[in-house]
Amino acid sequence: MTFPGPVSGTCTTCPYCGTGCGVVLTQTGSGGMAVTGDPDHPANFGRLCSKGSALGETLGHEERLMTPRVNGADSDWDSALNLVADRFRRAIADHGSDSVAFYVSGQLLTEDYYVANKLMKGFMGSANIDTNSRLCMASTVAGQRRAFGTDTVPGTYEDLDEADLIVLVGSNLAWCHPVLHQRVLAAQAARGTRLVVVDPRRTASCDAADLHLPIAPGGDVALFNHLLAHLAKVDALDQDFLARVNGFQETMARAQADDPAATGLSDDALQAFCALWTGHEKVVTIFSQGVNQSSAGADKVNAILNCHLATGRIGKPGCGPFSVTGQPNAMGGREVGGLANMLACHLELENPDHRSAVRDFWQAPSMPEKPGLKAVDMFRAVGEGQIKALWIIHTNPAVTLPDADRVRDAIAGCDFVVVSDITDRTDTCRLADVVLPATAWGEKDGTVTNSDRIISRQRAVLPAPGESRPDWAILAEVGRRMGWVAQFDYESPAEIFREYAALSGVAGGFGRDFDISGWSDLDDQGYAGLKPTRWPVTGARSGGRFFADGQFYHADGKARMVPVTWRAPVARTGRRYPFRLNTGRIRDQWHTMTRTGLSARLSAHLAEPFVEIHPEDAAHLSIGPADLVWLRSPEGQGILRARITDSVRRGDVFAPMHWTGETAPSARIDALVAAVTDPVSGQPESKASVVSLARLNAAWYGFAISAAGIRPDCDYWALARTEAGYRAELAGLDTVEDWESYARRLFNLPDAEIQIIEDPSRGMARVALRAGERLLAALFIASEPVAVMRDYVATLPGTTAPEALSGMTPADRPDPGPMVCSCFGVGVNTILAAIEDGGLVSVDEVGAALQAGTNCGSCRPEITGLLSRVTLHEAAE
Ligand code: SF4
Repeated sequence: MTFPGPVSGTCTTCPYCGTGCGVVLTQTGSGGMAVTGDPDHPANFGRLCSKGSALGETLGHEERLMTPRVNGADSDWDSALNLVADRFRRAIADHGSDSVAFYVSGQLLTEDYYVANKLMKGFMGSANIDTNSRLCMASTVAGQRRAFGTDTVPGTYEDLDEADLIVLVGSNLAWCHPVLHQRVLAAQAARGTRLVVVDPRRTASCDAADLHLPIAPGGDVALFNHLLAHLAKVDALDQDFLARVNGFQETMARAQADDPAATGLSDDALQAFCALWTGHEKVVTIFSQGVNQSSAGADKVNAILNCHLATGRIGKPGCGPFSVTGQPNAMGGREVGGLANMLACHLELENPDHRSAVRDFWQAPSMPEKPGLKAVDMFRAVGEGQIKALWIIHTNPAVTLPDADRVRDAIAGCDFVVVSDITDRTDTCRLADVVLPATAWGEKDGTVTNSDRIISRQRAVLPAPGESRPDWAILAEVGRRMGWVAQFDYESPAEIFREYAALSGVAGGFGRDFDISGWSDLDDQGYAGLKPTRWPVTGARSGGRFFADGQFYHADGKARMVPVTWRAPVARTGRRYPFRLNTGRIRDQWHTMTRTGLSARLSAHLAEPFVEIHPEDAAHLSIGPADLVWLRSPEGQGILRARITDSVRRGDVFAPMHWTGETAPSARIDALVAAVTDPVSGQPESKASVVSLARLNAAWYGFAISAAGIRPDCDYWALARTEAGYRAELAGLDTVEDWESYARRLFNLPDAEIQIIEDPSRGMARVALRAGERLLAALFIASEPVAVMRDYVATLPGTTAPEALSGMTPADRPDPGPMVCSCFGVGVNTILAAIEDGGLVSVDEVGAALQAGTNCGSCRPEITGLLSRVTLHEAAE
């Protein structure tokens, strides 16, 4: 199934989430790039979310790595690549093939992935290549393989348009896949589609839900087992379809024996959920990290799939289980064998026929016979000294893996570490022996696969800056330098893609689902013009849904229901660690912010890391709004700003995963997450660690703004971009005697003119540094969390701002408040004022008055929340 593409501008694909939106890049007259949604791309039909809309702001060369670096000094490609090839060769010769490893990323294009996988599994002779997609959806891969016999996403995005009921499980679609959420809302408006959200938190996705089930963390298996038992009780099973399914009896017995109390939900809520399921024929269950990132992740996936298989709600329009992936090419990585337990094209590493077919195809000397190390185990092996040479590509494991401090120490202690990335300002790059400059989005060419199997092109429109190179070229060059000249003699991504497509034909010969052999003779022109296309692509078939015909990929052609029983998260809360820590994403940032953090617009939405705490828990611990909170877990500790909200359950806390040693060192939340994994999938349990909380009694709190850099050096700091430069939140445990010297060091302005107001008896100090009348930087200090109008004050650097130290807006200029609509720069105070003063009652009316929410739509759930806030407030008066 091929979808058309427009002709003006360059069509490419967004590099963020797995929605895989089409983007059109057009040169502007001023030398910049205009970014618009591709109206013909079937993933988004022209829509982009706030992150995609801001892509043009992240294309500059700021913070880019331009040249290879060896041991912290600039080097050249020849020396760096010789060193990499030599160290990997020596490690293999001295310690065996399994002493080397690659840790790669869903940011890689399929062609990059293909070469990395071929180099490690076919030629270095180990399966020690794993991807950060292990942290994202490995449980889905495991669950789908158990149920279907292969890792197939059955449905398509069009199913969202046709569903009667959509169930979101462990997915804050409104923030993490905003364009898909808009599609769900459109279905609600067009055909009255009902929406259920299953999530311990009341997220932005709940604003449009008919039913929110605030499930106990880890309760999903019990919920879907209860549903399965209910489906049998009310005779809602599809007996014809069940003839195509094995494992029904045992699975049903286990489901009926499970205890719904583990869901933490009331009987009424359970009944309402079951009634919605049985009352609607066309059901799509969308699931994401809340399901996958669990020590029972694969079982959760199978509990969901069991319900769809038992009712035949799969492979039909408007029906099916639907895993939405977190990364732009997580799916491509799965297809191309980026996971340590897979070969390319959904072939299986442990199947000797598959292994020898791939070995023959690659003309490889040998193939590993056992799976390699999965991500968490890989870094454990690094820490234990078993891995002697490690290559990390476009990912930041020193921040993002669980038990991140231990991972950071393991990387630091490894004999030889190479990192390929677009910047060296990451926690992981700072630990590497060799850093290699790779091309970034907009500069590189290749393909990606989105969550509904559409393969789209990413296209280069900008020249590679400095000496940066595409990842496939770097990897192939190392392969050649290690002696495999003919096998890595690639000259273009098109050549790699053809080879990959041909290999998929071999997989097709084994009856595998992933077959794009229809492209194996695609010429360079055809590759250049490739339109978004859903796989499979063979002579006989293109796109469509899987399993409509009841044919699955187990040896007998049937599907399998997998008996599962609820298990509690591994870490147990108790007196020492009484809170359950959930981690996740925020609307306007992506992963560790190396790209989105460059956009002032995106940084204005939530400029500081935070921890959400229920009001009763906060009151019990004497934690007030905006206090800093000390979190401790058995693994590590951190300091975060308190957000007191009843959107989390009592006993649960939530913290985002984006902040790093570069932006907020005490908020590296994965330092607190236990390295516990699902025994089937190897995916870490990132949403159910245990922590204690305590108010941080800081000696002082600060807020800083600057036109240039800020160099914080205190117990707590969090740095963000602004249109005028930077802003930072600060706090320290030790008293500071001399705020003038402190400010000069903080802003690196030893000679600037200074204005200072101080009241030591109240712990207050305010410092402005100027060049003539122009404000360069300012520092606001208080003994309590600083009360200034941050969003206004952050605009002042570079202006004359005579009253800057007041920290207040002038009377004629209202404070817009924290950003809600990133596209039009509309803050929360502006929206609340418009709702109250203008009597606005709908998101569309707010849009008509302020434009907020009328472009990408990512903020529409938050505007809905503000409308309800005003309504509730008025009702209480
Ligand atoms: Fe990019 Fe947003 Fe589309 Fe995801 S939803 S692909 S982040 S534009």
